[in-house]
Amino acid sequence: MLSQVVELIEHKHRFAITSHVRPDGDSLGSSLGLYWLLRALDKDVEVIMRDAAPHAYQQLPGADLIRVTPAIDREYDGVFVIECSDIDRPGIDLEKQFVINIDHHTSTVLFGTINWIDSTASAVGEMIYNLCKATGVRPTVEIAECVYTALLTDTGSFHYSNTSERTFKIASELVRTGVRPAKTAEAIYGNYQWPKIELLGQVLSTAKRDESGRIAWMRQTLEMQQQTKACEEDTDGFVNLPLTVGDVYAVALFKECSPGVYRTSLRSKGEVNVAKVAEQFGGGGHRNAAGCTLKGTWDEIENQVVPLLQDAVKRANGSRD
Ligand code: 5GP
Ligand code: MN
Repeated sequence: MLSQVVELIEHKHRFAITSHVRPDGDSLGSSLGLYWLLRALDKDVEVIMRDAAPHAYQQLPGADLIRVTPAIDREYDGVFVIECSDIDRPGIDLEKQFVINIDHHTSTVLFGTINWIDSTASAVGEMIYNLCKATGVRPTVEIAECVYTALLTDTGSFHYSNTSERTFKIASELVRTGVRPAKTAEAIYGNYQWPKIELLGQVLSTAKRDESGRIAWMRQTLEMQQQTKACEEDTDGFVNLPLTVGDVYAVALFKECSPGVYRTSLRSKGEVNVAKVAEQFGGGGHRNAAGCTLKGTWDEIENQVVPLLQDAVKRANGSRD
């Protein structure tokens, strides 16, 4: 819990911070926000990740200081694991470490020596902001920009149901500290490269719906990615597009990452729980945004996932009646 985290920070000196593979706005914003917080307290700290920050987040203060490494190769008093629902998500072996687990997933495993979980936080960034208050650190512009990025991206630009009064209250304080919302939004959402548009055209052309019109899915083949010369992160956001149709309640995007292996992104509206679907394949996430990895042929994976999404939509309708 929070008091244990505060006590550890007060008594120890040398820390590492890590987060999940293929880091996103919350994992990077929260990790770097915590980095600047610990720096403000004169701690010896570094951010280590298995994967580099995507292009959209390279403007974040401290993004250039992230050390990309597949393994822990130094001694730390504690390793903060940010926004990971299980110990394997960082893709770095943490077995012998003193782990501090900071997360906001409801289904997170208590894998840390210290576990601070707040499933009411819209983003882990909110928790980092609370940690600032608890440690008496006045948010700097660096902390504010990192935490704002976490809030903005994990709430889908303040669209999703995790957006709360508290989110806006913190966002407002961050803007007062010096964040410029339009500048941050443009750096993240207005700075893509052309191959993303070409890839989007190809992926959207595969969009299908079931008979009810409430479930949609799309494919991204290895060939599409190679042909358009798109990079890994160019797919970000595609899965949300079919959900902009009023009748569509659940979407899957199957992205072939090596022959027969598919990173799968699931999204939904309202009560439709796609985290439960992802969990059936060893993945996880939030009710309305989840992911997992599948293996097989295109037909096999679609035949596995689409019926489960149909069930999830039916269950949600049932609970509403
Ligand atoms: P995305 O579709 O953007 O890759 O992932 C959406 C959300 O699902 C993430 O924020 C994360 O919470 C969760 N997620 C994605 N992939 C995995 C996975 O392989 N395992 C777990 N536990 N969660 C995942
Ligand atoms: Mn998050």
